[in-house]
Amino acid sequence: MAEVQLEKVNKIFPNGFHAVKDADFVIQDKEFLVLLGPSGCGKTTTLRMIAGLEDITSGVVKIDGKVVNDVEPKDRDIAMVFQNYALYPHMTVYDNMAFGLKLRKTPKNEIEKRVREAAKILGIEHLLDRKPKQLSGGQRQRVAVGRAIVRNPKVFLFDEPLSNLDAKLRVQMRSELKKLHQRLEATIAYVTHDQVEAMTMADKIVIMHEGIIQQVGDPFDVYDHPANLFVAGFIGTPPMNFLPARVVKQNGFWLKGDGFSIKVPDDKAHLLENYVDKDVVFGVRPEDLTEKSQSKVADETNTIITTVDVVEPLGSETLLHVTVGSNQFITAKVSPQTRAKVGEKFNIVIDLEMIHVFDKETEKAIF
Ligand code: ATP
Repeated sequence: MAEVQLEKVNKIFPNGFHAVKDADFVIQDKEFLVLLGPSGCGKTTTLRMIAGLEDITSGVVKIDGKVVNDVEPKDRDIAMVFQNYALYPHMTVYDNMAFGLKLRKTPKNEIEKRVREAAKILGIEHLLDRKPKQLSGGQRQRVAVGRAIVRNPKVFLFDEPLSNLDAKLRVQMRSELKKLHQRLEATIAYVTHDQVEAMTMADKIVIMHEGIIQQVGDPFDVYDHPANLFVAGFIGTPPMNFLPARVVKQNGFWLKGDGFSIKVPDDKAHLLENYVDKDVVFGVRPEDLTEKSQSKVADETNTIITTVDVVEPLGSETLLHVTVGSNQFITAKVSPQTRAKVGEKFNIVIDLEMIHVFDKETEKAIF
């Protein structure tokens, strides 16, 4: 068993900066949890508090039900993999991997067994005699992971381990780490600012912004049901489109704005009862917009007229950047067969089942 629990954890640095505010979440046994958010939102600080590398200002961190606030990092049974790998340059790969075990006075034959096993899992057996400077970025990354594996810790903490790798290697290491998680049945907390990394690897995502947790959920939860404008705009590429709108009740509920008027599906309409004649934010993802000629359901309740600004073919799909009304820009992800031409009028059909509406004041999702 390895479960990590944070209860109302706060970090205020000596200069008074409040970096983490009331962090409250659980990393379940064998779960791959990703802490996601923009630079400076408090992810690393949260991870370092779990590791014991940073004092906790208030709140409680528990591992397997036991409060560890005052337990030394080395006694927490946690292994951390850092962004810069923190390998010892003068030691071989073997010695780098063995170092933590030697410190713990593990018998030599046991060290040898564990290092060779980990090296096999990671495909770096042939590199054991090399020094770090004789390795590529991806190989160094594997050694850093290997050093964590040999310790067989209760919990692995990863702090942006892929950010120093080139794009292709990052994609490869992403799936390797995921496989490794399944193989080791490990409990993992993983920090990244890359939402694709989070979506592809996580069992559970904790989204942070300015020290505050915005939402905790599985990747589909946070994608399909973002709790607020921040999460809606942060998860998804290209990001969700937002347009200011007013709720109008007139043979049902409508969202009306500059250049569009669309009908809210009946099953969601009641959620807008308190917003009639009020301003809200209407959100729709680029992939929930279709070219009218490709849609079987186009009518006056779901179609808007736009002007095409930029056509961006990506091969498997095409991104259209279009203007709605006088001066609002949105993006649609459409079929590569699109006939859209720059400067021309273009009819777009909105999948009404997939629309989002946010409270303008609180920025929270209404649905
Ligand atoms: P990044 O992705 O850039 O690493 P992060 O989300 O991991 O960002 P943290 O490193 O946790 O962010 O930092 C959170 C905030 O706390 C930042 O604004 C940072 O400047 C601040 N901070 C970090 N360490 C200290 C410190 N020792 N004293 C004061 N402020 C600090």
